[in-house]
Amino acid sequence: MKDCHIHLSSLVASVDPPEVFIEKAASAGIDGGTLMSLPPSSYREDSRRSQHWRDRLEYILEYTSHTPGFHPFFWIDPTEPDAFEQISSAASAGIWGYKCICNRYAPEACLKQFAAMAETGLPIHFHTGILFDHYASSKFTRPGAYECLLEVPNIRFALAHVGNPWVDEYVLLYAKFQAAMRNAPGVRRLRMFIDLTPGVTRLRRHDMFRMLLLSGYANPCSDIIWGTDCLFNSYDVKKTAFWLDFDKKLIGKVAEESRNNPDLYPQLPDDLWRRITEENLLAFYGKQP
Ligand SMILES: [Zn+2]
Repeated sequence: MKDCHIHLSSLVASVDPPEVFIEKAASAGIDGGTLMSLPPSSYREDSRRSQHWRDRLEYILEYTSHTPGFHPFFWIDPTEPDAFEQISSAASAGIWGYKCICNRYAPEACLKQFAAMAETGLPIHFHTGILFDHYASSKFTRPGAYECLLEVPNIRFALAHVGNPWVDEYVLLYAKFQAAMRNAPGVRRLRMFIDLTPGVTRLRRHDMFRMLLLSGYANPCSDIIWGTDCLFNSYDVKKTAFWLDFDKKLIGKVAEESRNNPDLYPQLPDDLWRRITEENLLAFYGKQP
C-alpha cells in the first residue's frame, strides 16, 4: 500500500537512515508513496538545518535515491522572489511533485506560479483545512479558496485532509470542478485528487466517507488517495496501522450501505480500497496504471 503524505519535520533533529525508514514503513504494510522536503523557513524555522531551497532540494533527492518506491516532492513558498527558478530547477533535478501550504498567502495570488508548476507536468500537493501553524491562515486553507485553480489549465493537484472541518465544502468543490469541465470541455481542464490524510477525526470520519462516497454529486473513486502525515524522521508504524485498519473498515461499511440500498446510493467499485491505497496515487503522479 502507498502513503501519499510523509513529511520531514523541521522540529525533529534526528532522521532515520533510508533503510530504517523503508523497514518501518514495510512493517506497517507501506511499500511506496511521497516523501516531502523540509519546509521553507517561511513555514517554520529549522534551527539545525539549512533551509536554502537548493539544500532542501538536494537533501530530498539524495534521501529518496535510497528509498525505492518513495518519491520526492519539493516544498515551495511561491511568494519567494526566485519561485520560478525553484520550480524549473526542481523539475529538471527529478522531483515527482510540488508541495505548497498556503499559510500566509491566498492561492489566488499565486496562480502564475501554479501554472508554471502545471506546465512541468508534475502534480501539486496542497494543504486544506484548519492548519495548526502560528498564522491566521484559515482564510487561505478553506477548500473554497482553491476554486481559483480552475484558471490554471491542465493542473493536477491534491487537496489534503478533506478540508477538515469543511468537508461539505470540499466535496462540493470537487463536484463543482467536475461540472465546470462538463460545462466548458477543453477550456476547463484539471484533475483534483482527494487526500484522505487525517485531519478528519475518528468521530467525524464515517460521516466524511458517507458524504464523499454516497452524496452522488460526483464519483470520486479514481481520485481518492490515502496518507498519514507521518514523518520520515521516524515513521510511526502504530499510527499508520491504526488508520489503515480504521479507514478500511469504515469504507467497507459505506460500501455495504451502498450495496444494500442500490436505489438510494451510487454503487462503489469492489476494488475501491485497493484503488485508494495503490493505483490512484500512480495516476496522481502522472504514471497511469
Ligand atoms: Zn502534511
